[in-house]
Parts: sequence; structure tokens; C-alpha cells
Amino acid sequence: MASQSTKLSFWGVRGSTPTVDRATMRYGGNTPCVELTTPDGTRFILDCGTGLRMLSNGYTPAANGGGLNAHIFVTHYHWDHIQGLPFFNGLYSPRNHFHFYSFRSDFLGRDSLKRVLEAQMALPYFPIDLSAMSAQREFTELSGGDRLVIGDTSVTACWLNHPQGCLGFRFDTPDGSIVYATDNEPGRKEFDATLLELCAGADVLINDAQFTPEQLANERKGWGHSSWQASVCLAKLAGVRHLILFHHDPDSTDKDLDDNLRRAQSQFENVYMAAEGMVLTLDSRRMSMAVRIVRDLMRHGTHCPALVAGCSPDGQAFTEEAVIRDLSIQGAFVQLQSAPQLQSSIEVTITNFGENGQTPLILRGRVVRVDPASTSNKVGVGILFTD
Ligand SMILES: [Zn+2]
Ligand SMILES: [Zn+2]
Repeated sequence: MASQSTKLSFWGVRGSTPTVDRATMRYGGNTPCVELTTPDGTRFILDCGTGLRMLSNGYTPAANGGGLNAHIFVTHYHWDHIQGLPFFNGLYSPRNHFHFYSFRSDFLGRDSLKRVLEAQMALPYFPIDLSAMSAQREFTELSGGDRLVIGDTSVTACWLNHPQGCLGFRFDTPDGSIVYATDNEPGRKEFDATLLELCAGADVLINDAQFTPEQLANERKGWGHSSWQASVCLAKLAGVRHLILFHHDPDSTDKDLDDNLRRAQSQFENVYMAAEGMVLTLDSRRMSMAVRIVRDLMRHGTHCPALVAGCSPDGQAFTEEAVIRDLSIQGAFVQLQSAPQLQSSIEVTITNFGENGQTPLILRGRVVRVDPASTSNKVGVGILFTD
């Protein structure tokens, strides 16, 4: 089914290992999995970390009874990029068809990805036998520099600098270009040059930013990852329009990521921290962002009175009373008389919070979406909380 725009959904953004502690809940603890849907309805899945389970829960068979069809790109074979595979429901129905793409690993040999699947499903690592995975599966091996056309999208692969190898991918869709470059350490000329070429003029760059610049220069040098600062440098050099910092360290708390984001914002205007549930839409190269509510932990009812303080595009500060329609641990949606500046800081004070409704709760975030005024003359404002 044609979607008429290009959509990027983030189902897992954490690197190395899933996290389940409260300190990492806002940005999310599932390991890499990004879904890309292009205007002609072609579905791509980028990496199969634990986020794949979240994606698969929302995968429903077509209304006409047809099966699911997706092209799955696996960047490399480290656990955090493959561990969601056995939990992908779609793989257990014979009506579905999946085309997998990855590279031939020196350690696994021919049909590397096929071997990974077999090994993951072998006893005693998983209780269900591979024969239960009845979906049709096709495997293609790629190498750096390879190009292929799938539906309305052209895909280019590029080698990245990572232990045991890793591929980055560029997707040129009718709505714009997206580069997915996770698990890469900058600093080796030949890799830096090909990645720069891959990113040239991209509308969206999803880049590894696991470490701080200080860690990358010292104790984490050689671990195969990048930083927000190296990501910003790459984005500037390559003329990238929007930069998404990705593959967060399991030891980075939400607060650490907020700090990294602030530092990155001081050097590059359109930079975002990838968060689970974030959805980007590209429509003729215009990007908009929303946050899907993936956790209900703090979700409140439809009428939550609040005071909202922000800044309009002409620099005027405003404060107004509003009713929050949608509130989660990650963000909120609110209707306002004043239209705030996109990307500006905004503060939401929930006036009646706490056990007796006496304690105000102050939430700070950034404006990620401004919908035009509706009949009520109010604009819809999407807020992504930072701290
Ligand atoms: Zn990784
Ligand atoms: Zn890795």
C-alpha cells in the first residue's frame, strides 16, 4: 500500500546491550532497529536488535489476506544487531516473505546471515527449532560500494570502521536520502573518505554517537564507535540537513544524553537524539517529527491542566494555560494559542500533580512538531522531553 511519503520509525536506539533501568527509559533501552517505508509502500528494516520485537507487534497482515514483505538490512553480526530475530513474529508465518541483506563475514563464511539464524535457533540457545520459521527467506550478500534498486529506492552500501566489519547504507528515496551509519569509529582515512561520500548532501544521517568526545579520545578509542562531535563534523563536511545521534551507550543515562544533545546543538542546528518511538516523515525533502507513544507508564488522561512557557519564532516569550491531551514519559502533545518556534525549548508545568494534586511537576523539552491552526485557532504542538 502506498504511503506517499517516506517514514522512518525508531524501534531500538541503544547500543551494545538492552537497558531496562529507569535512568535510560526516556530515550529507550531496545537495541538497534529502524524501519523505513518509502512512497510505493516498500518496507525496509535496518538491523534486528531487540527493537525488532516492538516493530513486529505492530506488523499486521494485509487486509487482502496477503503476507508481509520486507527487505531486512543487517549491518553486522554483533549481538545488539541480531538478537531480536528469534522474536520477530513475522518469521513464523509461511505467507510472509523477507529478503535479508548483509555481508560475508570472515568468521562465518558463505551464507553468513543464514548461519547466524541457524545458530541462534539451535538448542539449547532457543527452545524453538528453525523449522518453525516458516516465512520465505531470501539472502543476498553485499559488499562496500554495492548498489541495488528496490522498488522506488536505490540503496548503496559502504564499509565502516568497526571490529569484525560493518556496513553502512544510503537509501535514496523519491522523498529524499537517508544514511544509516551505526557502529563506526572515525579516524581511519579510507573509511572516513567513503563514509563522507556516502553521506554527501543527505537529508537525514543516522550516525553512531555512543561515546562522548572525551571517551573517544581516551579509554574508548579503538572500540569501533563515534561521538556526537565526530557526527556533527561529518554532517557539516558532507552537507547533511538533519543529523540523528544513535546507538546510545548502555551506561549513558537520559540526562547524559540530554547533555550531549545540548553540546551538539551548540554546533549544529538540526541535530536530534534518537529516541524509541520517534517517527520522522520526509515529504519532498521536508522533514517532520513525531513521537509515538510506546510506553504508558506516565500516561495521563485526556484532561491535564498545565502551564506552558515557550518562545515564538520572533523571539517573544509566552506563557499560557493549556490542557495536555497526550502525555508520556517521552513527550506530550498540547494545543496552544501561541505557535512556538520549532526546535526551541519549552517548559510544561503540570499544575495538579502528586498524590493530593498539590505538587507542580515541571517538564522541560523541545518543540519537535507544530501543526497548523485548526478551527479552534490553536496550533498542535508536539514536545519531546529532554530533562
Ligand atoms: Zn552495535
Ligand atoms: Zn558492533
